[in-house]
Amino acid sequence: MLQTQLFTKTRKEISADEKSLNARLLIKSGYIDKLMAGVFTYLPLGLRVLKKIENIVREEINLIGGQEILMPALTPKEYWDQTGRWQNFDALFKLRGIDSREYALGATHEEIISPLLKKFILSYKDLPLYVYQIQDKFRNEPRAKSGLLRGREFLMKDLYSFHSDDEDLDTYYYKSLKAYKKIFDRCGIGSKTFVTLASGGSFSKYSHEFQTVTEFGEDTIFLCTKCKEAINKELFSELNRCQICGNDRLEEKKSIEVGNIFKLGVKYSTPFNLNFVDKDGREKPVVMGCYGIGIGRLMGTIAEVWHDENGLVWPEAVAPFKVHLLLLGSDKDVKKSAEAVYKKLVEENIEVLFDDRDVSAGEKLNDADLLGIPQRAVISKKTGGKVALKARNEKKEKIVKISELIKIYKDNV
Ligand code: ATP
Ligand code: MG
Repeated sequence: MLQTQLFTKTRKEISADEKSLNARLLIKSGYIDKLMAGVFTYLPLGLRVLKKIENIVREEINLIGGQEILMPALTPKEYWDQTGRWQNFDALFKLRGIDSREYALGATHEEIISPLLKKFILSYKDLPLYVYQIQDKFRNEPRAKSGLLRGREFLMKDLYSFHSDDEDLDTYYYKSLKAYKKIFDRCGIGSKTFVTLASGGSFSKYSHEFQTVTEFGEDTIFLCTKCKEAINKELFSELNRCQICGNDRLEEKKSIEVGNIFKLGVKYSTPFNLNFVDKDGREKPVVMGCYGIGIGRLMGTIAEVWHDENGLVWPEAVAPFKVHLLLLGSDKDVKKSAEAVYKKLVEENIEVLFDDRDVSAGEKLNDADLLGIPQRAVISKKTGGKVALKARNEKKEKIVKISELIKIYKDNV
């Protein structure tokens, strides 16, 4: 993409009222825009990052058998009444239609997917089943001050699994746990993201959260540095040692919950009569699990983890582009060779943002740091027919021949 065609610009200053680190980084570099507390627009660069994350999640969930659907965000009150959550879900956004009936904007979708699957699950032969969606959720969060970390409208992947018994749920639960580890590894935060024991709600004693250790996280975990597993602080008084090795000297860390997995049991199948006929001909409630990942929160978390004093430092797999090509100066020959390099990169399907703007070298270099694209390639009179390459997370530049450039990127990117 040509940077002259990108309508967004980096910003020198943003409001001092914006306290959230991820929001500051992402607004300043033109990835997102804030409409109001907890509600954001994803601008072209930000949307590319969001889509990359979304696709990593989609690929890994498909690999554990997930079938993707898209449920409505507008949902009728009756469904929420069946489970009591019209009253009990504090953050539910409620509205009234012209027909004077009441509706909720989907905050989660157990109330929609359970009756939906009732239309398709008849016997044990229809199970197990894994269904997910990637969709905006709405929650009237009282403290929406953390940028993408706590949205009032936010993108979530929600997966629901349906089983004939607890054992089958357990098997899939651990499969999903492994898939989640792969997702966070691929998004570049694997080394800072820890499986964390948390309270389990109604059915099972515990659930598992995936907590990413960062300075400004809202959650607190106690991490066993030996086992690399953690316990959420809310639970800690009950379990004051590592549940794997018994170590009682755990490290207290601030963290962000990027995902969680829950055994629901029959909590939602019972109110909706989501039953199946077992091998022995008896009718039984379907056993369920649910598995969430905040896609937008994940993007905010990556920004909180991967930046330096000059801007963002995207991990390769989620970066909006692989290469940021910078043309410095206005020399005609230099310009020609930069354009040729751009053309070649595009032909080779290497995702490149070409800074072809008529602005100073300093501005281009600063903006490149702010945007945080993993590889920078500078062509100027000074590089003399060659290209100066630098990775965003390194200090050293490397001068290579233009003819070598494509090979380097094809091998490394
Ligand atoms: P939290 O404890 O942070 O309030 P939760 O436990 O209510 O979240 P779920 O309802 O299980 O979260 O949602 C699944 C995932 O969606 C969470 O693990 C988190 O990554 C993400 N998520 C939840 N609430 C928000 C929000 N307000 N903004 C952005 N992402 C969110
Ligand atoms: Mg939680």
